[in-house]
Amino acid sequence: MNEAVTEDILIQELSRAGIQQDDNLIVHSSLKSLGHVHGGAQTVINAFLRTIVPGGTLMMPTFTFSLPMWNMPPYEKATSPSRVGRLTEVFRQMPGVLRSDHPSHSAAAFGPLAEELLSDHLQCTPLGCKSPFEKFYRSGGKILLLGTRQDTNSILHLCEVLAKLPYLEVAFTPGQNFEIAVMKNEKGGIVEFRLYQVPGCSRGFTQCEPYLRAEEVLKDVTICRSRSQLLDVKALVETMVRKLQEEPDLLLCRTEDCSICPRRRQVIRPKHPGDNCSPETC
Ligand SMILES: [Zn+2]
Repeated sequence: MNEAVTEDILIQELSRAGIQQDDNLIVHSSLKSLGHVHGGAQTVINAFLRTIVPGGTLMMPTFTFSLPMWNMPPYEKATSPSRVGRLTEVFRQMPGVLRSDHPSHSAAAFGPLAEELLSDHLQCTPLGCKSPFEKFYRSGGKILLLGTRQDTNSILHLCEVLAKLPYLEVAFTPGQNFEIAVMKNEKGGIVEFRLYQVPGCSRGFTQCEPYLRAEEVLKDVTICRSRSQLLDVKALVETMVRKLQEEPDLLLCRTEDCSICPRRRQVIRPKHPGDNCSPETC
């Protein structure tokens, strides 16, 4: 079946999935998961906005990862393209959409809470306290992973911060607890900015899906042909923070070539002395 998706069909599907008028909504997305959409990304964004008006605010990541170590150019709020998908790049350029001023992990938003969510992002760690994602959590709302999985769910990095996981002191650069990001100031000069609590690897984030399903925090939904996930942000954060305090390595990946997870795993101490005892060591 190759029938094109329209704005009206999308609105019906979003509503059937459980997204309602006045919901605050974060979207992480794979546009191509929907198949052919009449009008492309703009149609999908219009459908989100028409579903949540007038009281809801739509927020999306517009991360640029502007770190010299990754050969990314300095962040410029007005022009730097989002590196996290077509929908986010079209959204940030729409009239009335605001963007935060963070050089690596900016977010864009539209709606009554947009200004408040995005303000003072430079004073925060990328996805930590007082960041747009933390303010969204405090405000309450839903997260839709449209055709994607938990490895795109940025708010899991906030859960690492709120659970006070010791591995946040470990950055990508060995022996350092921060990374350098760069941005352009109003005069065109390059400004360096230190990132603490660096959001690390997210390849392991899908490991929490069975647990979140069992806790009924993660709801599998289908939007047209897109296999998606819907979550309530407060339930997600509260459940995950509790879980991470019990199982602090849950979100670390198990791939051998990862440049950060193996070193992060090393700094996690057993919760109780003796947890790691075995007949050989005792
Ligand atoms: Zn990893």
